Amino acid sequence: MARRTLSVLGSRLAQPLPVPPRPEGFAEDAPPPLVDRSGRAITYLRLSLTDRCNLACVYCMPPEGEREHARRAELLSFEEAVRLVRGLARGGVRRVRFTGGEPLVRKDVVRLVEMVHRDTPSLELVMTTNALRLAELARPLRRAGLRGVNVSLDTLEPDRFRRMARGGELGAVLAGVRAALDEGLEVKINAVALAGENDDEVGRLVDWAWGLGITPRFIELMPLGEAAKLPPEAFLDADAIARRLGERVTRGGGAPDGGRGPARYLEAADGSGRRVGFISAVSDEFCASCNRLRITAQGDVRACLADRRAVSLRDLMRAGASDADLAWATHWALGSKAAGHAFNDPAELEHTHVGMSLIGG
Ligand code: SAM
Ligand code: SF4
Repeated sequence: MARRTLSVLGSRLAQPLPVPPRPEGFAEDAPPPLVDRSGRAITYLRLSLTDRCNLACVYCMPPEGEREHARRAELLSFEEAVRLVRGLARGGVRRVRFTGGEPLVRKDVVRLVEMVHRDTPSLELVMTTNALRLAELARPLRRAGLRGVNVSLDTLEPDRFRRMARGGELGAVLAGVRAALDEGLEVKINAVALAGENDDEVGRLVDWAWGLGITPRFIELMPLGEAAKLPPEAFLDADAIARRLGERVTRGGGAPDGGRGPARYLEAADGSGRRVGFISAVSDEFCASCNRLRITAQGDVRACLADRRAVSLRDLMRAGASDADLAWATHWALGSKAAGHAFNDPAELEHTHVGMSLIGG
């Protein structure tokens, strides 16, 4: 199938927001702290490196893969990405998560991680990946300055893996996890549990992860892209998943992790201190504590995953914007960050147009 690119994708992906002129004096000495209009401090950036992927998970991508991809020239260059990250760090961002699409398919990804690390060494750099290429890249990534990886893994059964991810080899992912642990990267496992697909395996996934000293986390399915086409019965909320873990975990609502993210954690019932995380984006809206900002692979700053409005920092940079102009544009985009998402509001399901891989999950 012919791959269409650019403006069609752009218009489907985002509603461009024109930025008003920068107020005189704004950010000319130093950028003010990044705070959204609800007073939430923004300290965490999710930076997408590509909209491409070497898998097509059933809840994320159409079977044939996305039909449209950004062309290389439309992606943020490494230099542009480094500049944006530097500016955001001056505004208070402390942690950067590289994501995608699949970040490890971006050409020379190790060099980009190294460039960001060298430029702003104070940042904590982490990545979310399907780990297919992690066995070969764990060591160079660690040396380049990466601190941790969240590996997405929904099943430990090879046939089921190929069915849910529509490709790939489970063995490569497991080798990637092992390599990451050997290199001293902090590893977490993220799983999406679908009723009738892999929900019979959640206990096994937890036991396996605990056996490796890893904290597993379950992400509730969000109604984006392909996931919006799945039958409602496939959706499992965090409580339903916790129930399937039986006697392994303590009961209760779970505790957050000291402001590091939206996950809530249940403790192992055996008192060992091991934990299981739940990212309940739908059933337990955690927007009030949201500290994140997204930048897509094409350089759109998106205040919220569930909001298509975006400001193109790439276009501003290519038009000669100063650092103060970029700080203002980001600030202004944050002014549009809604207090909460609309995943539970059918009238607002605009975000179902595109999946996570195109926005940057
Ligand atoms: N390709 C990488 C990976 O899979 O880890 C990074 C990008 S992927 C979009 C990031 C995460 O989003 C994965 O853990 C995936 O399971 C999750 N994801 C994708 N679509 C989702 C959906 N509709 N609801 C909940 N999680 C989703
Ligand atoms: Fe690719 Fe990640 Fe989406 Fe799966 S979840 S299709 S690995 S981007």
